[in-house]
Amino acid sequence: MKKKPVLSIFADGVRFDSLQFMPFTKSLNSVPLETVLGYSITCHPSMYTGVYPNKHKIAFHWIKGRKEKGPYTFLSYFPDFFPFSNPYVQAVASHFYSKFFLKKKASPFMGYGKLLNLPMKFWNHVDINEFKYWDEDNYINGDIKTIFELVRNNDCKFHISNLHKPNLGKIDAIQVVEPDSYDWVYYFIGETDSVSHNFTQHSPEGIAVLENLDNFIKKEYNRFKRVHGEDGFDFIFWSDHGHISIEKQIDLYDFFRKRSFNLKNVFHLVDSTTVRFWPRNESEKEQIMEIMQDVSEAKLVSNEDLESLHLAPDSNLYGELFYYLKGGVVFIYTIHGFGKETKSMHGYHPDAQGNDGLFVSNRRINKSRVTLPDVFSSTVTSLGLEYKPSFELDGENVL
Ligand SMILES: [Zn+2]
Repeated sequence: MKKKPVLSIFADGVRFDSLQFMPFTKSLNSVPLETVLGYSITCHPSMYTGVYPNKHKIAFHWIKGRKEKGPYTFLSYFPDFFPFSNPYVQAVASHFYSKFFLKKKASPFMGYGKLLNLPMKFWNHVDINEFKYWDEDNYINGDIKTIFELVRNNDCKFHISNLHKPNLGKIDAIQVVEPDSYDWVYYFIGETDSVSHNFTQHSPEGIAVLENLDNFIKKEYNRFKRVHGEDGFDFIFWSDHGHISIEKQIDLYDFFRKRSFNLKNVFHLVDSTTVRFWPRNESEKEQIMEIMQDVSEAKLVSNEDLESLHLAPDSNLYGELFYYLKGGVVFIYTIHGFGKETKSMHGYHPDAQGNDGLFVSNRRINKSRVTLPDVFSSTVTSLGLEYKPSFELDGENVL
């Protein structure tokens, strides 16, 4: 069994073609990385567990709750009580409610948070999809283990930095270490994603972050090289998806209103690049499908699509009707916010132009397009971790 120290660096949302702004990183071996349909919340479990969403079942921040009473059921009793019908008041109410009453119940990356643009009468239907932080024990119920659980269970000496608040993801806040006493060093970078949302990835602000990232990688790579020698360690740098500049915004509520359909009467969840509907009956379902046909940038996901995209055929996660948008198009007035200022987005189909992440290594990469589960399997193999799960892993070692 091969066993080498591993330097892992993750940066959120770095496009494959952003290597052009990263001369050191580009000088290593690199291939595009195929993402999964959905945003970071579904990508992280895929890269930390080696299985796709159809197995780990983390799809979105908000899903249709499986229990009769959800975390927001209490607030759903006030739908028609002025001033609760105002979306701004709803945002504030849900924010303080989650902050003071729900926060202690769960500790995931995204928390509970506020609910926007979804009428209050539907708040009893929603729940969060992810209840624990990535590095907590039993992040996924059952036999599926994360890389964090494996390194702890295998007595692997590790150092992880920037995975938690308050410095979550900021390059300049990373606590670096000398590599001689560690098997695994993992640095988590998030600011590549936020700068892309705010300015686009290839804006002057975005390029400045990429250059800072490239310098950081060079420094930490050379630190490992000095201690272990060029062949004495495995280096893996990757991102979870790309980023696509926004060209068009769609207000779905307005779109439905103009076709004499009040969307606020149907339980639905609008994310930036997807919309899920739970119609009450067949005729409502047909009406929605007919109107959605007019959104030429939206594609309905069939059961076959779910399978080929490695997504679970589970209507609690994906709705009775699940649509995604073409690259560069977004919905505004989503469950998370108003979305009008955002300049760039992710969460598109894995084949959308610009949506590939990247995978970089000092080793030869024996695949032309790496997947998120491959990141897990390659890391586990390099570290020589013992892991024989009862189910089939979706990732493979690519180094
Ligand atoms: Zn991400």
